[in-house]
Amino acid sequence: MAANTDVGEDASARRDLAVRAAVEQGLVGGTDSAEPLTCLLDTAGIRASAAALTSAFAAALAPGTPVLHAFAVKAAPLVPVLRLLADAGLGCEVASPGELALARAAGVPAGRTVLDSPAKTAAELREALALGIAVNADNPQELARLDALVAQAPTGAPIGLRINPQTGAGTIDALSTATSTSKFGIALRDPGAREWLVRAYLDRPWLTRLHVHSGSQGVPLPLIAEGVRELHALAEEINTAAGRRQVDTLDIGGGLPVNFASDEETPRFAAYVAALREAAPALFSGAYGLVTEFGRALLAKHGLVLARVEYTKTTGSRPIALTHAGVQLATRTAYAPAAWPVRILPYDAKGAPKTGDPVAQDVAGPACFAGDLLATARELPLLAPGDLIGVPDTGAYFFTAHYGYNSLPRPAVHGFALTPSGEVRFSLARPAQDLPSIVTEAGGDFRDALL
Ligand SMILES: *Cc1c(COP(=O)(O)O)cnc(C)c1O
Repeated sequence: MAANTDVGEDASARRDLAVRAAVEQGLVGGTDSAEPLTCLLDTAGIRASAAALTSAFAAALAPGTPVLHAFAVKAAPLVPVLRLLADAGLGCEVASPGELALARAAGVPAGRTVLDSPAKTAAELREALALGIAVNADNPQELARLDALVAQAPTGAPIGLRINPQTGAGTIDALSTATSTSKFGIALRDPGAREWLVRAYLDRPWLTRLHVHSGSQGVPLPLIAEGVRELHALAEEINTAAGRRQVDTLDIGGGLPVNFASDEETPRFAAYVAALREAAPALFSGAYGLVTEFGRALLAKHGLVLARVEYTKTTGSRPIALTHAGVQLATRTAYAPAAWPVRILPYDAKGAPKTGDPVAQDVAGPACFAGDLLATARELPLLAPGDLIGVPDTGAYFFTAHYGYNSLPRPAVHGFALTPSGEVRFSLARPAQDLPSIVTEAGGDFRDALL
């Protein structure tokens, strides 16, 4: 317990130092001459999460068991982030040609890359097999394509099938991948599915992996672990039928939820490993290599949005702060606020934590629709123009998943780290999108195309 609290305090202390330094160094500010919005990533925090993941599994696995922790690129598709994680020993899970291009740009080798996605084209599959990237097929039609490709050219790429264990939903419908009708993988409990799966493996000696990804935000650990137990049981059934250890690797996906309510990092990777050991102890025996695909749990706690309060007003007796952080960065929060609440940390114009009596106020973004709110009736010291708000826990699926509404630009992302003497050192990981690039992306080079 004490250790957990210490880590949380360390991270929040680093964050406050970084906010102050970001203002001092002109990355963001309360005055008109400064940037109104920026995003920060705590590189020490990211490294600590990668180490926690690696050591939690290493502590449980039989020595020498092959394991690949592949970061789910969609959670933070930034090349410097993938590079940092690769430096910490992680690979990449990709689900589109764009994500694969990012992983390759970061220098992640094919042998440490896994390709998922429910709609891979024949060209994507051909490229993955040629490069030696692991592929998890989603459905029987994709498997038929793989049959043809493997017949054309033998491949060293490991190939598996994704199953949907149909173990049930979490609290967020849109993120529940294991309901009876979820769109991913082969539905294990549908009539005839098990028999079809075993036959599919017996007919294809090159199918050597099984994949499940049944967790996500809002899914309790025992439910995620149940999906993995189903996966392991199916692998045993296939291997018994084959009379050999045909399935040699289990890809158990990601999906560890994140605590958005405080700085405490919970649940921890070690708690997830404990839940897995309880549900499927044989998973750790060394009989199978393991692949994991965590995204949110590695990055979320280490990202911070910093935005200026541009104006404040009162409407229908409700104080409203109009800020530069809204739906373009916190898309899910704006459209589904009950499922995706975020904390708001108030800072003054110098970047010092702002104190004062709590007043219920709305925190709004810059976009032109009424639902562009980060918080409603939130008790905070009364915000004033020139103050800053921090939105923590936004390192995954928030500012790295930009939404182009109102042609709002992608903001800059700066990594930060403390030097041994306690100074904050920033390094630019992504520049802010400039206006010419917004015009180009909006067809600016084709001005007369529709005349
Ligand atoms: C999104 C996704 C992940 C990562 O999920 P997190 O909840 O971010 O850990 C892993 N694997 C697959 C197949 C995914 O679609």
